[in-house]
Amino acid sequence: MTNTPPPFRTGLGFDVHRLVEGRDLWLCGVKIPHNLGLLGHSDADVAIHALCDALLGAVALRDIGYHFPDTDPAYKGADSKNLLRATVSLLAEKGWALGNADITICAEKPKINPHIPQMQSVLAEILGVEPDRVSIKATTTEKLGYTGRMEGISAFATALVYHP
Ligand code: MG
Repeated sequence: MTNTPPPFRTGLGFDVHRLVEGRDLWLCGVKIPHNLGLLGHSDADVAIHALCDALLGAVALRDIGYHFPDTDPAYKGADSKNLLRATVSLLAEKGWALGNADITICAEKPKINPHIPQMQSVLAEILGVEPDRVSIKATTTEKLGYTGRMEGISAFATALVYHP
């Protein structure tokens, strides 16, 4: 019996943003053609926000709102890819690297599947891993609830991090 902690951790992230007219729709760092976009202080990339929370959660470094507050003008209109880069740096400072991530986007519309390969390569490049370590999945909620009514899009993410 030893008290040495294991060299890996897992984390969970969840986020929701409201769909509105007059905004671009950004998901996993990719601009998706759609008549509605997500509302937020930053570019409101709900999938990247969930991923950041999964990474921070894995190492108990609080959450995305703690590090990048939506009251801070510095993050107004922020490209969430930069928030993800900063999150990766926070983990790297403590010696943690990404093993794999798994993201589920819940949206009634638009169709996400055609964009998944591009999303994987965008995120993998930021995370410094091969695209096959970044899984992105899409689902609807069968027209139920706020995602079904197209009032918003939600995303879940898990991540495994390890000490190389
Ligand atoms: Mg968010």
